[in-house]
Amino acid sequence: MTRYARQARFGPFGEQGQAQLEGLHVLIIGAGALGSHTAEMLVRMGVGRLTIADMDIVEMSNLHRQAVYDEQDVAEMLPKVKALKHKLANVNSQVPISTLYMEVTPTNISQLIRGTQPDVIIDGMDNFRMRYLINEAACEAQIPWIYGAVVGSKGSVYAFDFTGPCLKCLFGEMPETAESCAINGILPPVVQQVASMQVSELLRYASGNGFSKKLVTIDTFQVKYQTMNVDALKDTDCRVCSQHDYQLLNHNEHHPIEDLCGNAIRFRFKPQVFDHAELLPGTIVKRNNFATIIHYQDYTLTLFKDGRMNVHGLTEDTDVKTLFNTINKSFK
Ligand SMILES: [Zn+2]
Repeated sequence: MTRYARQARFGPFGEQGQAQLEGLHVLIIGAGALGSHTAEMLVRMGVGRLTIADMDIVEMSNLHRQAVYDEQDVAEMLPKVKALKHKLANVNSQVPISTLYMEVTPTNISQLIRGTQPDVIIDGMDNFRMRYLINEAACEAQIPWIYGAVVGSKGSVYAFDFTGPCLKCLFGEMPETAESCAINGILPPVVQQVASMQVSELLRYASGNGFSKKLVTIDTFQVKYQTMNVDALKDTDCRVCSQHDYQLLNHNEHHPIEDLCGNAIRFRFKPQVFDHAELLPGTIVKRNNFATIIHYQDYTLTLFKDGRMNVHGLTEDTDVKTLFNTINKSFK
């Protein structure tokens, strides 16, 4: 117990909180900025068990804000879950960590939750489409989840259980043009703060103090913090948490082109493209079992096994549709 003595000595958490934390299984969806930082904190604190699901490899543009990853991971093109598991195993070998190198989608999220049976889910995603999906899946499975979002220098956190409002009660229907870090960039300090708040909510829950039930909003650049009591926003007619009508689950509507964080876009092709990357325009500069990196004109294309392709190096003049069509035609 000496390993955790300093945190257990904190009265409101205590030995009992520590013991309960050690019995907790947490599912983290996303191993990017929020997911990797919450994972690290929880492993250091001796959480019972972690399952982490993510589909990306470590890229240079992640390193400014994702402190657990390094240049070696980028050079090896390691999946984030693989790099994270390796690092966290060295931090605390007593915590079992299961990793899933997969894209969480409307068609597999319920199965993921049923299959892993977590006590709590942590949102480590970077877009609202996924958060609305987690909201439905967590509600369906009756598992609490801790929302966290960061964009620019702003962040927000809220921990959802089943007595208060759900994400849809708070924010209504999914915003069509939600603020995204693709447009607004992201300042690293807000990541650490939001991840810390997410973990704080988890510690409250683990130690029997219950979630704070406060919506926390932060602006690290303006150095502004606010908390809001949003219990009254519980909508007794809410489609999700009152009527249990889950319209997002099992509806797979992947767009072939979507925005990503960091001035990048994602194309989706058939998975077979991965095995025929030499047909694509440009030059293959690196490949392993997880990804192939191609230089084409001024773009860097990262092609994944499942046919996803992240495109970096966009400018204002980039005609995204033409670029997509050019690549798409090359292997037809
Ligand atoms: Zn609701």
